[in-house]
Amino acid sequence: MKHEQVKAAVLVAPKKMETRTFPTPEITKDSGLVRMLGSGICGTDKHVYTQGEIRLGLPGDVVRLPIIMGHENLGVIEEIGSEAAKAMVMEGPPLEVGERVYIAADIKCGHCYNCRNIYGFPWCLNHTSYGDVISCDTPPHLFGGYSEKMYLLPKSDLFRVPKSLPNEIALLSEQMAVAYGAFGRAYQSPITKEGLSPGDSVVIQGVGPLGLCNALMARMLGAGKIIAVDKSEYRLRLARELCSAEVISLNEHPKYSDRVARVNTLTDNIGADLVIECTGDPGVMSEGLDMLRIGGTYLVEGAYVEDADTRISPSRQILAKNARIIGVSGMPHQAYGRVLKMMDAYRAIIHFERMITHQFDVEEATRAIEISMSPDSGKVALGSMK
Ligand SMILES: [Zn+2]
Ligand SMILES: [Zn+2]
Repeated sequence: MKHEQVKAAVLVAPKKMETRTFPTPEITKDSGLVRMLGSGICGTDKHVYTQGEIRLGLPGDVVRLPIIMGHENLGVIEEIGSEAAKAMVMEGPPLEVGERVYIAADIKCGHCYNCRNIYGFPWCLNHTSYGDVISCDTPPHLFGGYSEKMYLLPKSDLFRVPKSLPNEIALLSEQMAVAYGAFGRAYQSPITKEGLSPGDSVVIQGVGPLGLCNALMARMLGAGKIIAVDKSEYRLRLARELCSAEVISLNEHPKYSDRVARVNTLTDNIGADLVIECTGDPGVMSEGLDMLRIGGTYLVEGAYVEDADTRISPSRQILAKNARIIGVSGMPHQAYGRVLKMMDAYRAIIHFERMITHQFDVEEATRAIEISMSPDSGKVALGSMK
């Protein structure tokens, strides 16, 4: 049992994945091991897959190859150290072997300036994360979710999954938590009444998995009109069916000015209260700002990897509009616990599980990631999900 080999998908060079085997890690009192149920393929992983050792959105984060990707991780505790069982769980009693958990994507030190002083988005100065910055050449190797098992580093934050919540829904927790954190920051300023209020209009630029999670969060938080903008008819259909979104197709409206005009029409010529960038393409920022009403809020969530420049007019699009622009990377860890409860509460009326459109085993990682990059996919899961 101890010396069992673990299969994992390893990115060895850009666009080159192979299946490798690793020894089962020995755990200490502060660490643990999960058997993976599934790992979601994220937009970040697509950039890493195509470009290799890139710099990511957080200070100091550089991808190191060879790597086992995967930071949207759902698993079952297989072994847990005596201290880790108490220290890693964010709510409730100590963790036990056999429990189903969602693992926060990043790990904080708890004592740097940011951890101690900046509430909500500490972005620990000494943070590390699963699935991108620690090479699998470093023992005990299993630091990403595209694997049969994953090592739980000391200071990981873990969340019990409600018993009634299916794996297909729980897998969405990381991106739902990003949306939760983002909406938390968009909420109203009590003085100026900017930000999100119930009934507000929300435009989502790009309804891939992250955009869909934002649309679902907008729906749960009481948004009024949700408007999805995308070039994929497949994804627009998901947005329409899952969140009753109005849709603006780039095929039908290839011109920027037509899409802005369409948002104006749908919002009674006011513009959207909230616009959310989830495309990963900084080039859409100007259009997003033009869709925004005066005093509106723009959340930039998708442009995680620096790979293009954009031109905006600060005078016309930001200053004259009194726009609030909020950059979103990651979320406060408490968000994971909250979204697990929200999805459990809403699963009878919102079909979250339909967002998972494909599932592949670890050996099929290349195929899985290629499909996740196609416009005809929602969230792609790697792992047996059982
Ligand atoms: Zn992600
Ligand atoms: Zn820290």
